Amino acid sequence: VIELRHLNKRFGTNEVLRDISFQTNHGDVICIIGASGSGKSTMLRCINMLETPTSGEVLYHGKNILNKGVKVSAYRAKVGMVFQQFNLFNNMTVLQNCMIGTMRVLKKDKNAAEQLALKYLTKVGMAPYINAKPHQISGGQKQRVAIARALAMEPEVLLFDEPTSALDPQMVGEVLEVMRDLAKEGLTMIIVTHEMAFARDVSSHVVFMADGIIAEEGAPEMLFNNPQNALTREFLSRFM
Ligand code: ATP
Ligand code: MG
Repeated sequence: VIELRHLNKRFGTNEVLRDISFQTNHGDVICIIGASGSGKSTMLRCINMLETPTSGEVLYHGKNILNKGVKVSAYRAKVGMVFQQFNLFNNMTVLQNCMIGTMRVLKKDKNAAEQLALKYLTKVGMAPYINAKPHQISGGQKQRVAIARALAMEPEVLLFDEPTSALDPQMVGEVLEVMRDLAKEGLTMIIVTHEMAFARDVSSHVVFMADGIIAEEGAPEMLFNNPQNALTREFLSRFM
């Protein structure tokens, strides 16, 4: 579905991504792990066009989304993103947060947008909170709303950038549970995470990044149980 080819990204003289290539197929759950500053977020942001690569290609069904004339909003409707800091609109209710995207981007009428919002808020267990404002709910609940908002667009791929890193420990589980369900249902996901047990259980493929390159990648059993690269072993040893 998505393929990166020889992606490079520089900020000034800082080469943050160097020759990154990988691809996802339909139904893949790819977890991206690696130390702070290794370029995980930058890579995800390049996939979602929040950053422009210095060189290389980002292909969506074989088409380079960096080409002129590609509509960013239509692409982002297909390839959604969930952020560490939720990015909810604080002046809107939970329900409104989950309607605004489908109304603005997909041009749904109010009724259809509400139906979609309710469907996905129910899925993440947040239907009882539709009239709450973000400040009235917990971090875990906010993140579940953010996931419902992304799902309401009925995307083909969802990107997650450390969706549980801003949460109190007791709220991590409820968010990972929702993501586990989505994985079981076959949603294609690319997830940057520090939750190693989750990555091991849920992913079809794990990518380990170090200093802007893909240092190692493979099936989770392989990467976690029998890492080939010394950097991978060193990184994983911090979680054992
Ligand atoms: P973390 O686990 O801390 O989130 P990360 O792997 O997501 O780290 P990135 O956020 O992608 O890492 O950052 C990689 C490098 O790029 C870092 O050196 C960072 O300082 C730099 N960087 C990221 N965004 C920018 C920016 N907008 N301008 C300049 N430098 C940036
Ligand atoms: Mg990051």
